[in-house]
Amino acid sequence: MSYRLTDEHDELRAVVRELAEEKIAPRAAAIDEAAEFPWDLKELLAKQDLLGTCFEEKHGGTNLDGIAQVILAEEVARVDATTSLIPIVQKLGALPITLAGNDEQKDRYFPRLASGEWLIAFGLTEAAAGSDVASNRMRARLDGDCYVLNGSKRFITHGSVANVLTVFALTDPAAGGRKGMSAFIVETDTPGFAAPRVEHKMGIRGSPTAELTFDDVRVPAANRIGDDGDGFRIAMETLDRSRLGIAAQAVGIAQGAIDAAVAYAAQRQQFGERVVDFQGIQWMLADMASQTEAARQLTYAAAARVDANAPDLPYWTSSAKLVAGDTAMRVTTDAVQVLGGYGYISEYPVERMMRDAKITQLYEGTQQIQRLIIARQLLQRAGVAKRG
Ligand SMILES: Cc1cc2nc3c(=O)[nH]c(=O)nc-3n(C[C@H](O)[C@H](O)[C@H](O)COP(=O)(O)OP(=O)(O)OC[C@H]3O[C@@H](n4cnc5c(N)ncnc54)[C@H](O)[C@@H]3O)c2cc1C
Repeated sequence: MSYRLTDEHDELRAVVRELAEEKIAPRAAAIDEAAEFPWDLKELLAKQDLLGTCFEEKHGGTNLDGIAQVILAEEVARVDATTSLIPIVQKLGALPITLAGNDEQKDRYFPRLASGEWLIAFGLTEAAAGSDVASNRMRARLDGDCYVLNGSKRFITHGSVANVLTVFALTDPAAGGRKGMSAFIVETDTPGFAAPRVEHKMGIRGSPTAELTFDDVRVPAANRIGDDGDGFRIAMETLDRSRLGIAAQAVGIAQGAIDAAVAYAAQRQQFGERVVDFQGIQWMLADMASQTEAARQLTYAAAARVDANAPDLPYWTSSAKLVAGDTAMRVTTDAVQVLGGYGYISEYPVERMMRDAKITQLYEGTQQIQRLIIARQLLQRAGVAKRG
């Protein structure tokens, strides 16, 4: 399966880069410092039609292909990882509905999400259930024409600022998480819902990561996504696709760090020479650039697999996220090294980029979980997977 970057992709990159450099980059340090959600940049992205790229035209979206969506995330993350999460999570939250929702649900919610009027979040993780999604405990009990939701979620990106959530809860606890979990659309003004706590974090500090509580939250039965018991499958199929956004974010963070390191090293003088002229520094920069390019191309290849709904797309998206996340961590750490002591202080952006990069190795499945997914597919391909 091949992929090709088109003139339209190049044009999109140029437009987003200009917007990111002019309007987002100057805000990045203050967003990090204040740890506040950048409402102004949400409005900016909405006005530029950049929150509707994953929605169809009939819902007010621009329906861009996977590579274009990767380029958008990459270019915003290049200057600010927090702001890149606004389009990334808009897609993540909507994906369960895209994959398994009905037309009525899409018609009701997608226009407001595509325009950016509403934000959506994806509520899967619980305090005791992170990597082990099937051990989720939140409950949804059918009562007449409503489900009654009780329980809590932890670490939900945009959970405290979203208007609507896709949430996963057990409708048949006896069947366990894999078979007894269902997915729901929950509007956050529903009585009994609260977001009592937002975490203090190492990076992506302007992106609120919230604890959510559900106390007898009544959700119309019409808001169940897919069939009863489909929740685990919907969650996994969502993450198999959405982690491409995290790979793109990681590539963007790495590229931002390379650009900052080159610019600094070209003006910094030591021993009467520019730091960028030392071979030891050039070799570091060459490693940073080539590894980032490899991660970028792998991410584009994975995006093409997602667009084609290829059966092995989890192998590709997990590989892209694994490689890009580890690359972002390594490259941002090296960028701090290139700047020496100045890399360690907040006057320059690379220490923020290094803090931001770490999350790409953790969320939407840790790097260990990506390896499990890749290995499972590898063994299946080789016909040596364990039975049962
Ligand atoms: C900032 C932030 C934003 C997030 N946003 C969202 C969101 O929007 N929605 C949402 O639902 N969740 C979200 N999450 C949750 C995130 O996806 C989980 O934190 C992540 O999946 C890991 O779960 P855990 O933190 O419970 O770690 P654990 O699962 O407890 O893992 C602890 C360690 O054990 C390792 N480990 C676990 N199982 C295995 C195994 N089988 N083999 C080898 N190693 C293993 C892990 O890799 C890790 O190193 C977010 C988290 C953070 C920090």
